[in-house]
Amino acid sequence: MDNINKLIRNNVKNIKPYSSARDEFTEEVNDFIFIDANENPFQTAVNRYPDPQHKELKQVLGIRKNISVDNILLGNGSDEVLDLLFRAFCEPGEDNVVILPPTYGMYEVLANINNVSVIKANLSDVFQPSVEVILNAATVKSKILFLCSPNNPTGNSFNAKYIEQLIEKFNGLVVLDEAYIDFSQQNSWLGKLKDYQNLVITQTFSKAYGLAGIRLGVCYASKEIIKILNTIKPPYNVNSLTQMVAIERLQKHNLVSEEIKLIISERKRLEVELNTISFIDEVYASDANFLLIKVDNANKRYQEIIEKGIVVRNRSNQALCDNCLRISIGTKAENDKLITILEEIE
Ligand SMILES: *Cc1c(COP(=O)(O)O)cnc(C)c1O
Repeated sequence: MDNINKLIRNNVKNIKPYSSARDEFTEEVNDFIFIDANENPFQTAVNRYPDPQHKELKQVLGIRKNISVDNILLGNGSDEVLDLLFRAFCEPGEDNVVILPPTYGMYEVLANINNVSVIKANLSDVFQPSVEVILNAATVKSKILFLCSPNNPTGNSFNAKYIEQLIEKFNGLVVLDEAYIDFSQQNSWLGKLKDYQNLVITQTFSKAYGLAGIRLGVCYASKEIIKILNTIKPPYNVNSLTQMVAIERLQKHNLVSEEIKLIISERKRLEVELNTISFIDEVYASDANFLLIKVDNANKRYQEIIEKGIVVRNRSNQALCDNCLRISIGTKAENDKLITILEEIE
């Protein structure tokens, strides 16, 4: 793996970040009068601009994840974090990224927005990365390889050996999207971050943490990479309410763990139940908070399920996902309702 510096876009190397009023003096030093940012002085609880460096939140998260705050960058959802990676490393109209369909749709959407071309190396028929195929498909202009494990929409985790080989041999950044890691039997790669300078790990508060509405995504990477991303991120990209709610939730981690356990046990129950439905040909093993199923006719079943008042995700136009539907794990009552409806349309 070449030096990370060689991967950074030239214009980005020379950018001076916007220095916001709140970068130098914070409200923690409370005997200051703040008349530097044209804010309204009257209290609304959020009349001040948010901390652009997200210091307190990163500290709490760093302790929870056992990682230094210098290895953390926060964004307005993973989507912003991923977009920042494109902007820092991919020259529009020139560079490309490698994705492994079927996978999360945003990688390609963000590539298109940034005018970066996409090389597709499909997963194998058991939804695992084909290391040789991927490395052969990559070019000297391939800057980022996106690995999503557990993968959306298939739900499975990638074999750790394949992930390791790809990190070692891919000549660019490997972005490992761990949006569903809390539901997985596999360990996060966070503990191995220091072993690989080209590894970037993304996580989110949208799934296991139950906070999709606050839009908070996390990027873990080397200090060097985090520093670059910090210079190009919008100064106030994570608002005060989001920072507050995330800190509260991190302090209730026992509750979060309980919910994760419940979701996993419901996933196991639903897996068994779905296997008894005659028009479901396969329920794929899942390490996430959803199940991918193959049915006799996805478009027909999707419509029938909608008519009974339940919305699932039709993934049948994705590579390797003929006639597949993706079902998020709901509450026990919601899952019971789903089973009843599937039995009705059987
Ligand atoms: C849901 C999901 C995310 C989360 O995106 P946010 O912008 O943080 O809500 C990220 N990656 C994958 C693969 C997902 O399925």
